[in-house]
Amino acid sequence: MSVAPGSGPGPHRVPPVRDTGFVARFLHADLDAFYASVEQLLHPELAGIPMSVGGGVVLAASYEARAYGVRSGMAVSAARRLCPNLTVVNGSFSKYVEMGDRVVEIFRSYTPLVERISIDEAFLDVSGSIHLFGDEEEIGRRIREAVSSDVGLPISVGVASTKHLAKVASAAAKPDGLLAVPVGGEVEFLAPLSVRALWGIGPTTHTRLSEIGVETVGDLLSVPESQLASRVGGGAAAHLRALAENRDPRQVQSGRKAGSIGSQSAIRATADHEEAHRVLLGLADRVGRRLRAKSKMGRTVTVAIRHPGPRLVSRSITVHDAVASTEALVELGRPLLDDALSESGEPVTLVRIAVSHLEDEHPQQLELPVDDGAAARPGSAKGVAHRDLDRQVDQVRDKYGRGAVQRASLLGDGGSVPDEFRELAEKD
Ligand SMILES: [Mg+2]
Repeated sequence: MSVAPGSGPGPHRVPPVRDTGFVARFLHADLDAFYASVEQLLHPELAGIPMSVGGGVVLAASYEARAYGVRSGMAVSAARRLCPNLTVVNGSFSKYVEMGDRVVEIFRSYTPLVERISIDEAFLDVSGSIHLFGDEEEIGRRIREAVSSDVGLPISVGVASTKHLAKVASAAAKPDGLLAVPVGGEVEFLAPLSVRALWGIGPTTHTRLSEIGVETVGDLLSVPESQLASRVGGGAAAHLRALAENRDPRQVQSGRKAGSIGSQSAIRATADHEEAHRVLLGLADRVGRRLRAKSKMGRTVTVAIRHPGPRLVSRSITVHDAVASTEALVELGRPLLDDALSESGEPVTLVRIAVSHLEDEHPQQLELPVDDGAAARPGSAKGVAHRDLDRQVDQVRDKYGRGAVQRASLLGDGGSVPDEFRELAEKD
């Protein structure tokens, strides 16, 4: 089933989109095969050949390797079966940080409204820059040229009137392209695309939609929302319809990362909840350590998981008394993780924990009843003991390195990504 533009009113016509006259213009800029591109730039012998970055898990694959089906997140052994002449390099992580930062500086020379969402991609709101540099498409073109000439890396840019659509457009522009969706043409642009292009549609949702004949975004709009809701749930149905109609009220959050300390780990796709919990424990340990190193504590703990798609599910709790001990983070984070995992049975490819609403560490803390009932709350005897233990562990690690003390449940952790890679996502 598909709906061609102008094929007549379906059961749910798209409402008229704009009436205010002002249309925000967003760019989503995303470096292509970032780590692999940096390696190819720095080591010309790697240019033009199938190569990947990462020893155990493929963290990035060159386009030459992708032609063989090699994808990030795959075990290197599986990648070699697909592509026997694959060249695998370990990666130079400090270089990636440096180059990613240089690219973001280029973005900031065009607009202060830059929301970096990972080391190699960002949303930009250029609505206020058009009178300076030309229209949004021209700004996208200039940014691509500057990144290519000043840094030497390929980058794709999507231009649209919402963040979601800008991201869809940059994915469609890859590799090394620019795609601007005209104002007023958004729904027509989306209609022929696979529903997989929409943020939030993973394999399970895709299968459920296929079963009712929904393959394209246009199909999605032609199905009554009640029927969609019966397949994917009411919340998801409303969310998908909004995206299909290009309704996305999110703004660029240029200061979003300030005031939060988090850590995440990309993992091999797994439906094993124990594995996800084990990863969470390691991340809570890292975050706790970083909070304590900065003499900070935080009141809000957020746990997020990513399903292939990519679809992010996150859960938060805000407690009365700020926490910083690893044990408190684990106690608060565990039920959040369970809750996020229960939302779908799909495999998990990333786990993240972050602490926000940060405050300076209190040297003395009163024992107060807290709203979460956590046994390890900071003022309790158990909380104080946990904190002392954390401090001792931190000191041993400062002296002898991170591997000197390890939680027993983390020993034998072989399938995870290198610490340097995680640290890329922890720049705050
Ligand atoms: Mg990228």
